[in-house]
Order: sequence, then structure tokens, then C-alpha cells
Amino acid sequence: MKAPAKSSGSSSPAVSTPAASAASDPGRKPGERGRLDLFSLLAEHEHEQVSAYYDPSTGYRGIIAIHSTVLGPALGGTRFWSYPSDEAALRDCLRLARGMTYKAAVAGLNLGGGKSVIIGDNRTPRREALFRAHGRHVESLKGRYITAEDVGTSTSDMEYIKAETNHVTGLIGRSGDPSPVTAYGVYRGMKACARHRDGSESLAGKSIALQGCGSVGYHLAKLIFAEGADITCTDIDPQRVKRVVEECGAKAVEPDAIYDVRANLFAPCALGAVINDDTVQRLQVEIVAGAANNQLAEDRHGDLLERRGITYAPDYVINGGGLINVNAELHGWAPERARSKAGEIYDTLLRVFEIAREEGIPSYQAADRLAEQRIAAIATVRRNFV
Ligand code: NAD
Repeated sequence: MKAPAKSSGSSSPAVSTPAASAASDPGRKPGERGRLDLFSLLAEHEHEQVSAYYDPSTGYRGIIAIHSTVLGPALGGTRFWSYPSDEAALRDCLRLARGMTYKAAVAGLNLGGGKSVIIGDNRTPRREALFRAHGRHVESLKGRYITAEDVGTSTSDMEYIKAETNHVTGLIGRSGDPSPVTAYGVYRGMKACARHRDGSESLAGKSIALQGCGSVGYHLAKLIFAEGADITCTDIDPQRVKRVVEECGAKAVEPDAIYDVRANLFAPCALGAVINDDTVQRLQVEIVAGAANNQLAEDRHGDLLERRGITYAPDYVINGGGLINVNAELHGWAPERARSKAGEIYDTLLRVFEIAREEGIPSYQAADRLAEQRIAAIATVRRNFV
């Protein structure tokens, strides 16, 4: 399950992690060896590089993790979060960077996987100097890492980063809200799931339980309604529910009741970890296909779905439209090209299900296999030709 890293000669530039040691273990006496074994952590999932930078003038403490640049520059957002320790921040950064490698690989993009975290209170009003410090950190990697928005950051923060580096995307007035492209990719993914189960990709007459009527959920509801699906929806925000009820003829249920709705499809478009010990037994659907990130609380919940005969569209495959939209901005693609690329999620999912069948593994593992196959194939081509 490991993504191949680049050959050692080019893959391990200077690693500097002053922030990732002492503060992670406050009980440690001076001179005592810490519990954090940095290089074992990097080796675990074959990360190429970690860079940590502390700027005393702003208090900036940032980590950039580059998991793989085999397919292209490592792209991943900047997360601004109050981590309980530097080690927690580093682990999160490594985990998220690896996820980006796989997401870009299955989306067929020429991008690698990376991520960055800024440690601190993301509500701070003193943003310019902080994000410019982050921009300088990004710039120091000379294009091996490209950043974007993530939890705790906004498009205006990206503008501050832009003042220090060109390796940033998701800027004001550029590719804009990714959710219509994401919703379109999820819609195409739902059709692939239907085809996989029934031999027909049509969603007409299918019942769909939609969790979350936010940016993606709303656009998705419009698409499936136009095709003749019958929607039951929920959200913790009544206004958002109202919009989908009024515009898409949906029926509304209370947030917790969505897991008990008998339907063809469950579409999680709100939160992560919604497939867990409680819900996996309650679901009365044939297919789980939605936009939310990290839908499985743990991998074993993917196994449980499989055992219950429920088709699961791996989240990072079906919600790749957001990343495709960012890629479109980087390469100046027209919106139609981004939409068309997101449409390819249909074929990608069918391939995932085929690998799952051939190898007798659950779909979430098959998705990883597909990503690894592409990375390995491109790494080989790059070794073979001048
Ligand atoms: P959003 O914030 O616009 O919408 C999420 C909605 O979920 C909100 O309306 C919120 O009120 C609702 N919600 C929160 N808790 C809920 C609960 N317990 N029950 C029911 N509803 C609840 O976010 P979004 O951009 O639509 O993204 C939705 C999901 O898809 C997120 O997990 C996001 O990470 C993921 N995703 C989004 C994109 C994108 O392009 N926006 C891309 C990839 C993945």
C-alpha cells in the first residue's frame, strides 16, 4: 500500500525539523531521547521530505510535508490549527500529504501529494505577516510544493502567500468555488455505482438519502433531481434543507434519521467518519457515494460495508472534482475541461470495482491499488526514457 518514492538521489533534500521534537514531549528531561522518531515516521509511508520553519518575528510555526513528487509537484492545502503538540501536527501533516498523493493519482492529474500545517489559533486577526512567512517557507521549496486553502485558511490568506511565492493556488477571482465541479464528479460517480450494481447508470426513479445540503450537497441535489431521482435530505441548517426541499422536491428528515432511511443510495456530503460502528449497521441502502472526506471512521468499516453487500465509492476517488478544479486553475484549463475531467470519475470508479473483484478486496483498498499502479507505471516510464 505504499506509494513509491523517487529514487534516493533526488528524493531526500535537506530535512529540517526543529519544531518537531522537544515540545511534543513536555515530560522529557533535557538531553533525554524523545519518543518521536522522525525518520521512522517518514519511512513508514515513504515520505520524501519534511520541512519545518519557525519565524520568531511573527511566531509562525509551520510544517510542510512532501509525500511524493513522482507524478508532479506536491499539491495540498495549508491547514491552520491549534494542535495539542508539535508531534500531533507533524503526524497530521504526513497523513494528509500521503492522502493527497493518492487522490491526485486516481484523478489522473500530474500532481504529487503534499500538505502543510501552521500551528496556532486560526482566528487570529494578525494574518498578513504570518501567511507571508508561510509563503516564504513554500518558496524555499522552489516549486516542489504548491499550496492552497484548507481548514482554518481562506482565499485572502492565499493572497498573502502569493506576495512571497507563485506556488499557491485557489486565489481570489481565479478558479472559484470548486463545489459545482465536485458535485458533478460525485453525480458521475453515483451513476458508475448504479451501473456496477444494476447494469444501468440511470438514476431516474432511484431513492437517494442526502446528508448535507451545503455547497456540494445543493449542487448534487439539482443534478440528481434533474435526472428524476427521489431525494430525502437532511442538514443541521434548516435554511439549507428548505432550499433543497423547495427546489428539488425533496423530503426532509432530522439529521440523525438519515442513517435509517431506506433508499438505493446514501450520499454523505457533510462530515467525515459517518460510516462508523453505529451507522454501518443502520444503513438500509445498496450504495454509499458522496462528497465528504474520510467517510470511513476506520478502514474496517469499509470491510463491514463490503460484508453487508453495500457498494462503497471510495471518498477520495468520487470527490476528486475539487482537486481537479484546483488543477484547472494551475494549468489555465477552461471550466468545460475541468468538468469533463471530473466526469472521468465514472470510468475510474468502474476500474476500482473491477480491481476489487479481480483481487477479492474491498473497494477502498482497490482505490489505493489503482493509485499505486499509476504512480509505479509513471515512475518506470520516467526511468526508461531520456
Ligand atoms: P459545506 O460546509 O458547504 O456543507 C456541509 C453541510 O453539512 C452544511 O450545510 C452543514 O450545515 C451540514 N452539516 C454539518 N453537520 C451536519 C450533520 N451532523 N448532519 C447533517 N448535515 C450537517 O461543505 P461542502 O463544501 O459542501 O463540502 C461537503 C463535504 O464534502 C465536506 O466533507 C468536504 O470536506 C467535502 N468535499 C468538498 C469539496 C468541495 O469542492 N467543496 C471537495 C471535496 C470534498
